[in-house]
Amino acid sequence: MIRAYKFLLRPTVGQAIALGEMLRDHCSLYNGALQERRDAYRHPSKTSIKYGMQSEQLKDIRTFDPERQGRWSFSSQQATLRRLDKAFAAFFRRIKAGDKPGYPRFRGVNWFDTVDFPRDGDGCRLDSTPHDHVTRVRLQGVGHVRVNQHRAVLGTVKTVSVKREGRKWFVVITAEQPLPEPLPATGSDIGIDLGIASFLTDSNGTHSWGVFLTILNAKAESAGWEVMAVDPRNTSRRCPACGHTAKENRPTQEKFHCVDCGHQAHADEVGARNVLRTGLVRRNANTAWREAPPLRAGRSHEERFHAETPRSRTGQHRARARAAWNVAWA
Ligand SMILES: [Zn+2]
Repeated sequence: MIRAYKFLLRPTVGQAIALGEMLRDHCSLYNGALQERRDAYRHPSKTSIKYGMQSEQLKDIRTFDPERQGRWSFSSQQATLRRLDKAFAAFFRRIKAGDKPGYPRFRGVNWFDTVDFPRDGDGCRLDSTPHDHVTRVRLQGVGHVRVNQHRAVLGTVKTVSVKREGRKWFVVITAEQPLPEPLPATGSDIGIDLGIASFLTDSNGTHSWGVFLTILNAKAESAGWEVMAVDPRNTSRRCPACGHTAKENRPTQEKFHCVDCGHQAHADEVGARNVLRTGLVRRNANTAWREAPPLRAGRSHEERFHAETPRSRTGQHRARARAAWNVAWA
């Protein structure tokens, strides 16, 4: 299983300048290689230039331009040439399919935001100062850049990419991990009802929530279990016995008393049972979810939580949200 991590970089002023120069030079390499392909394509002979031919020129380019092209990782430059090659492959594929794609374009330096290092240890090294208490990544031509590593990287680091987003710099790491050894399925599912009233006491509530869910997700993930946040609407008003839904079913904060069938229980327990029911219904309805690996890459836990919880729930009273998680993931 390949897993990606993205961490904020904290470069010094000098390193930030060097990072900008690294992008700029990779961008001009990309554009130069594109120019060569364009010229060859326009030539009556309609020569087509391949990645291998461009990669072979790298050595001379680096020797000829030691202060710029010669300064950066050879492998990262190959990765940039490969990116161009992919753009062309897609272009020709679409022509073949009868489309009218635009010819691959030159990139302005502001539209060129990533440098890839195909292999950790080749032009880059994550955790380059293991004796130090801060994590750093060494990038050829830039130095040991501080990494804001907010969580441990598990498994073997494969690739390292540096990415600019606005004024910030990030490092994106992919790591190969063994599949988590699932804990034996217990056959049971749990619903929890997390109410602002009991769980949180101040206006930082929503934030604490995120922390709690993050920890919960991390724990579940390592055990091969699944956490699912569900829409909390009506979960405190619906009678688990007869289904009657009314706000009168909840005479006080603690009590649940169905006005239809007379069912009585603690309000939190009713909420939790309804959350579980909602979670199970949704899981069963959503086969895509079932087939996806636990905690799909690409979206953080918080993002998923927020995406599935209506934003209007941040107010004091409405700030009740619930999570259901099931322990029987299989
Ligand atoms: Zn009832």
